[in-house]
Amino acid sequence: MIKKNLLTPGPTPVPSEVLLSMAKPTIHHRTPEFQKIFKEMNENLKYVFQTKNDVFTFASSGTGAMEAAVVNLLSPGDTAICVQAGKFGERWTELCQAYGIKTVVIDVEWGDAVDPVQIEKALKENKNVKVVFTTHCETSTGALTDIKAIAGITKDKNVVLVTDAISSLGGIDLQMDSWGIDVIVAGSQKGLMIPPGLAFCSISPKAWKLVEAAKCPRYYFDLRLAKKALEKTDTAFTSAVTLCIGLNAALKMIKEETLEKIFQRHNCLARAVREAMKALGLKLYAKKPADVVTSVYVPDGVDGEALVKTMRDVYGVSIAGGQDELKGKIFRFAQLGYMNEFDIITGLSALELVLAKMGYKFETGKGVGAAEKEFLK
Ligand SMILES: *Cc1c(COP(=O)(O)O)cnc(C)c1O
Repeated sequence: MIKKNLLTPGPTPVPSEVLLSMAKPTIHHRTPEFQKIFKEMNENLKYVFQTKNDVFTFASSGTGAMEAAVVNLLSPGDTAICVQAGKFGERWTELCQAYGIKTVVIDVEWGDAVDPVQIEKALKENKNVKVVFTTHCETSTGALTDIKAIAGITKDKNVVLVTDAISSLGGIDLQMDSWGIDVIVAGSQKGLMIPPGLAFCSISPKAWKLVEAAKCPRYYFDLRLAKKALEKTDTAFTSAVTLCIGLNAALKMIKEETLEKIFQRHNCLARAVREAMKALGLKLYAKKPADVVTSVYVPDGVDGEALVKTMRDVYGVSIAGGQDELKGKIFRFAQLGYMNEFDIITGLSALELVLAKMGYKFETGKGVGAAEKEFLK
């Protein structure tokens, strides 16, 4: 028997309260019973997005909401800025290219985050840009982007700011309305503590003007259909009833804890993980680390892929490896969603045991000890 612990930056652990809420027989989506849940869910989503704008829910993985943003804001031949600081930033470029949108790519060294000044400069040089696509936490590198500063630049301009907050929503502060973010996309399987399968897209009135003018082909992700349905507390197509029920239960837990405390919790866990890694003599990868995932260089002489695999297969602890050019070079340790001090200790202890077995030289317990010291602060 292997007891499993999920410490990946999505999917993340699901609380038993949420799992139990989803264990009941399926109900029909066009019933007062479901509408009551859906209405509450939509209100609570606004709390998490820190917005008065509508939040649209789709049955898809997070990338579906990214696609929704692209096809609803732009027309073929339009120009958009795509910030690329990792795999998920690249996805914005790929999506734009798939729909014939011209891209001004701001390439940022992986592990780093874009300097808002670069966006200001690109906007000055490219007057025809309609949309700026960004990534709040670039999950592939663990780096955090200063969205508040970027919104400060785009807010009063004739340009729409889109942020992929798929891994950060419900973990790191992101104030849609007060910072002036136009579009936020998110997914269900990360900070929102439910299984994969739902995607979210929230749109400001400024961005909505583009939705009406956009000429990209769109059908399932057409936000005009989604809006018409939402006005009747409905979705355009069959709602993912069970996931919505789970989400509503998870959102209630989030509201009860409050966003403020949730951000503090993630920050506390992240600081502990960072201190633990340093105490083990390991080097952090991201220059501006996000509080939801810690990326760490695999030490010399250790096989990074074997490290991740052994933690999972021998100890049941899943962390993530590096993607693409970072394969085998880093590992990513999440502190995201339904996690507390003891999930972190379990993960760190498994990491220490596997590193020791793989011949890495350090004093066992050092990482766990450093994390505990951080918790006591
Ligand atoms: C996980 C993630 C995605 C992709 O979401 P899917 O649910 O796999 O489609 C996109 N962007 C970021 C930042 C992510 O962390």
